[in-house]
Amino acid sequence: MARSVAINPPKMCQPMGAILAYMGVHGCVPLVHGSQGCSTYPRYNIARHFRESAEVAVSSLAEDAAVYGGAKNLTEAIKNVKSRINPAIIGICTTCMSETIGDDVRLISKNALAPGDAVKIIPASTPSYVGTHLTGYDNAMKALVETLAVKDKPNYKINIITGIINPGDIREIKKILRIMNVKSIFLSDISETLDSPILPGVHKPLLPDGGTEASEIADSANSLGTISICRTASSAATYLRNKFNVPTVLDPAPIGVANTDRFVQNISSLSGAVIPDEIKKERGRLIDSMVDVHHYMFGRKVAIFGDPDLVSAIVRFCAEAGMDPTVAMTATKHKDFAPDIKEVNAEYKTDTQILEGTDLYEFHEAVKTYGAELILGNSKGKDLADDEGVPLVRFGFPVYDRVGVYRYPILGYNGSIYLLDQMTNAILGHKYDPNKLHQ
Ligand code: SF4
Repeated sequence: MARSVAINPPKMCQPMGAILAYMGVHGCVPLVHGSQGCSTYPRYNIARHFRESAEVAVSSLAEDAAVYGGAKNLTEAIKNVKSRINPAIIGICTTCMSETIGDDVRLISKNALAPGDAVKIIPASTPSYVGTHLTGYDNAMKALVETLAVKDKPNYKINIITGIINPGDIREIKKILRIMNVKSIFLSDISETLDSPILPGVHKPLLPDGGTEASEIADSANSLGTISICRTASSAATYLRNKFNVPTVLDPAPIGVANTDRFVQNISSLSGAVIPDEIKKERGRLIDSMVDVHHYMFGRKVAIFGDPDLVSAIVRFCAEAGMDPTVAMTATKHKDFAPDIKEVNAEYKTDTQILEGTDLYEFHEAVKTYGAELILGNSKGKDLADDEGVPLVRFGFPVYDRVGVYRYPILGYNGSIYLLDQMTNAILGHKYDPNKLHQ
């Protein structure tokens, strides 16, 4: 039935994603050019998910800005951020209001700087009436490389565009690169900025340590290639290819056996590095873990929702593990989502229903029709999982009703083992209602 309303869409607006991209840059303060709530709600989500405070500035637009424009507020905001925090970079993202007003953010921010000001300003256009948080991430990342990347001598590194993944995932990808002895530039890197340690005798700085340096982003123009872990975050890779001839690899997220094989092979092909035994052993442990739980997981119905790259990769992994992925849903449309899942259906003789650009109401209806003994998604799936009497294994963003999810990887061979163990233990530990369809 056609509906003209969205009910519980599991997506957020563009500034949310842009802020996460900026927070992975060393010494960068995100500045939201919009109303108070446009920064409060992303900060709230970041604080709940990562259990870290987030320094996000806002130009605090009100009614007068809707009439006279937001130039005065943005100029004041830039000056305040400079004098109070003195960051290396201010990453500006626009909002519904500033886009509708039509503020020339580039010009306003240029005029706000005094001669000799060292701070770099990155303006990204992130109107929230198009796209989702993933579009915002992509736009901010593209703005960062467009503003900063400069051609110089080859650096023999690989650029990794992470997309919206967790600090634990980034550390896992770094570990794989370390084992393969491949140098890298992460675009960007929240592994420390949003998971910072408390060290003895050291006060947490106002701006967290870690993150990718502006100089590294500048150097991304000189790399051997760019791998985008999430294909929704590919614009910066395309820009680097078109402007600086940096080869681009856009493949599925490295979750499960086949997708992680492709990722490792891509690193090897771009860098010339051989795949060491340590990586082969990790792969072998993943296969072993799948064999270990096969009798628990074979034929188990699983329904998955979340961001498209992670969902389609998890669908493939579930099929590899002998499970029956019944429903795959994403609120963010992406051209590769349906083809990815159709490919899994053809290869594994599964019949996964594909829901794209929709909401959790439709996902719930599909779960009732096609069944699920397990649901995978973020915390927004809790109520429907409870309604269906099945466990929810949490992944993605935001996860606010469990602690520590951001710390553990689900990417790479090791992360896939962790994800499989979570799924298996959720099923083993759950008491199912024998009258429900999922049985
Ligand atoms: S949807 Fe628009 S108004 Fe609402 S928080 Fe996002 S940018 Fe602000």
